[in-house]
Amino acid sequence: MTGMLEKYAAVEGETIIDHLRQLAAPLKGMRMVHVNSTRAGGGVAEILHRLIPLKQELGIDAQWEIVTGDERFFQCTKSMHNALQGNREDIDGDLLRHYEEVNQQNCKRLQNKLSDAQVVIVHDPQPAPLLQFCEQRRGKWIWRCHIDASKPYRPVWRFLKPFVEGYDASIYSLPDFAQPMRHPLYIIPPSIDPLSEKNLDLPDEEIRAIRSTYNIDPERPVICQISRFDRFKDPVGVIAAYRLAKAFGPPLQLILAGGAATDDPEGEEVLAEVRAAAAGDPDIHILLLPPDAHRTINALQRISDIVLQKSLKEGFGLTVTEAMWKGKPVIGGAVGGIRLQVVDHTTGFLVSTPEGAALRIRYMLTHRDRMAEMGRKAKAYVLENYLLTRHLREYLTMMVAVLSGSRDRIELSTPNFNGGKS
Ligand code: UDP
Repeated sequence: MTGMLEKYAAVEGETIIDHLRQLAAPLKGMRMVHVNSTRAGGGVAEILHRLIPLKQELGIDAQWEIVTGDERFFQCTKSMHNALQGNREDIDGDLLRHYEEVNQQNCKRLQNKLSDAQVVIVHDPQPAPLLQFCEQRRGKWIWRCHIDASKPYRPVWRFLKPFVEGYDASIYSLPDFAQPMRHPLYIIPPSIDPLSEKNLDLPDEEIRAIRSTYNIDPERPVICQISRFDRFKDPVGVIAAYRLAKAFGPPLQLILAGGAATDDPEGEEVLAEVRAAAAGDPDIHILLLPPDAHRTINALQRISDIVLQKSLKEGFGLTVTEAMWKGKPVIGGAVGGIRLQVVDHTTGFLVSTPEGAALRIRYMLTHRDRMAEMGRKAKAYVLENYLLTRHLREYLTMMVAVLSGSRDRIELSTPNFNGGKS
C-alpha cells in the first residue's frame, strides 16, 4: 500500500494527511505489535487489515500477530464474549485453565516479538492473558476492547479483570463500555476504509452482475443485513421484521449475508436456526460468503434500499458504517455503537423489536424522498466521524500519550454532526 496516504487526501483533504505525518514523526521506526485471534471474519480483522499498512507507511514498524487455539479455547472465548455482553455464562474451571494455558503457549511462540516491541495492542478477551506470561517486556501494553462490556456477567469479568489490570491503558469504543481501571482509559470508536474493496465505488455493471448472480429482482425493494451468524445480531428477528413489513406492504426481498469467523464456533448452529426460520420463502436470500467477498458485500449493500443491523448487543457495528458510507439509511438495534452512528430519524431509525423495525421499513419505502435524504446525511456523518484517517490519528495520539506516561483519561472522539451540510 505504498503511496496510499496521498489517495486519502483526495477523499478527506490534505490537512488530515499532514496531521498524521506530524503525529507519526516521533514514532518513526518504533516497533509495535497488534495481537488478536483471527485474520478473517469480524470487525477487528477488517480494521487491522487496513490500519497496519497505513502505520507502516508512516514509518512505524507495525506488525500483526494472532493467537492460535483449539476448539475448546474458542468455545471458552466465545462464552467470554457472550458473558461480557451480558449473557449468563458459567464457564467451568477446566476450560478457564485451558484458556490460560493456550495463552501461555502462544506467549512462548511470540515471546521475542512481544518482549521487544515498544507498544503491544491486545484486542479483546482471547489474548488478554498474554501480558501475564510475557517475560521481560520492554514496551507499553494496551488492551483494546471492541465489545459492549457495559454490563458484563460479573463472575466472568471478575476472572478476566486481573489480566486486564496489568496493562498500561485500555481502549473502548464508547464511554458506556469502559470498565473502571487504575490505568488510563481511552475512547476510540472504530472506522471504515473508504478505499478498501468493501467500500470503494463499484461500476454499475459489476453491481448488476452480482445482483443477477444471487437472483435478486431489480424491480422489487431489497432490505439486507450483513453479519456473522450470531444470536446477538438477531438474524431471526430480522426475518420476523421482514415478514411483518411484507404482510401489509410492498413485495420485499431480504438478503441475509454472512460468513464464518475462525474464532466464532457458534456460527453453524445459528445458521441452521436462520435457515429454519426462512424455510419456504424464495425471497429470503441466505448467502454464506467466503472471507474475501468484499466486493460482493459492497455490491449487496449498494443494491439494498435499506440496510438493517438489528443487533441486540453490538460493540460498534462496522456494517452500519459501511452501509451509511454508501448513502443507505440504516434501521439498527438501539444498542452499543449503533446508537452512536444511527442518529434516530436523521440518518436512519433505532428500533428495539421486529415490530418496530417493520414499521420503519414500511415508512421508508413509502417516503422515498425522506429515505434518500437520510441516506445523504448518513454518508456525511461517516465522512465527518468514522473514516480510517480519524481512527489512525487517535491511535497515534494515544500512543504518544501512553509512551510519555500520561495518566489522564482522554476522550479522543466526540462525534460531530453538521446536518449533512458538508
Ligand atoms: N463481514 C464480512 N463477511 C461476512 C460478514 C461480515 O466481510 O460474511 C464484515 C462486515 O462487512 C464488517 C465486519 O465483517 O466489515 C463485521 O464487523 P461488525 O463490527 O459489524 O461486527 P463483528 O462481526 O465485529 O461483531
